Amino acid sequence: MKKGVLRPGHIQLRVLNMAQALEHYINLLGLIETDRDEQGRVYLKAWTEVEKFSVVLVEADEPGMDFMAYKVIDEATLECLEADLLAYGCTVRRMPAGDLKGCGRRVQFDLPSGHVFELYADKDYTGKWGVSDFNPEAWPRGLKGMRAVRFDHCLLYGGELQATYDLLVDVLGFYLAEQVVDDQGTRIAQFMSLATKAHDVAFIQHAEPGRLHHVSFYLETWDDVLRAADLISMTNSSLDIGPTRHGLTHGKTVYFFDPSGNRNEVFAGGDYNYPDHKPQTWSADELGKAIFYHDRALNERFLTVLT
Ligand code: FE
Repeated sequence: MKKGVLRPGHIQLRVLNMAQALEHYINLLGLIETDRDEQGRVYLKAWTEVEKFSVVLVEADEPGMDFMAYKVIDEATLECLEADLLAYGCTVRRMPAGDLKGCGRRVQFDLPSGHVFELYADKDYTGKWGVSDFNPEAWPRGLKGMRAVRFDHCLLYGGELQATYDLLVDVLGFYLAEQVVDDQGTRIAQFMSLATKAHDVAFIQHAEPGRLHHVSFYLETWDDVLRAADLISMTNSSLDIGPTRHGLTHGKTVYFFDPSGNRNEVFAGGDYNYPDHKPQTWSADELGKAIFYHDRALNERFLTVLT
């Protein structure tokens, strides 16, 4: 957070069929619809998030991620980071306030990995859903499905890992929390954090740029992850793998797909970081164990199905 970048703020996800997507993200995942716009986009949030939305769904011909946004601490920081991005050689696109409903101006730029990131300082502050800021109760009644707690991170597949790392570290203030290195010592996976979370975004080396591996939501407990897997079966949703544990971050996890083929994760637990922590390192020959700690092997689908 040393550059004033706070946390993941939102993601815009492409879906093939909005009605099916809403059934998935609202009734199965447990997100809450907060608005819609003239372009037909639907705005969703998880219940503990204090801003108006964290997931924007847009209907399109292909699934995948349009962009991922990070919240910065204030407008002065946004101006400073915009200048830093320009000085670094990034092409910056200015998205006006209101382009996303309830969100202030956004500074959008391309990562060397082929993904689109953006920064913003202002978004409507709604507080947590269903509980007051004053004498708050433990949780709101009426949550659906998996009762997702928050939008947590994305895992992105693409090239140019080192250049992406340099931009995230030098300009945006991320640090390396965990990594996988091959036998030449080259980093093939990087888990990047802003504060104390296990990661706020992760990248895996991939020949094709700009791909989405998964979008992840936090749950409170291992029982919630098990219950999420039960719900995946009850709804005949497409399971990828789990419930199981990651070696990387040690989180407890289950992967599944939305009706458009975008991979989702819900997870609980996992490691934490402080500035004096050194990166955790896995060797590529232990990649199976690093990803799936119990099976110690990767399934083909996990490596190849991307949107
Ligand atoms: Fe993940």
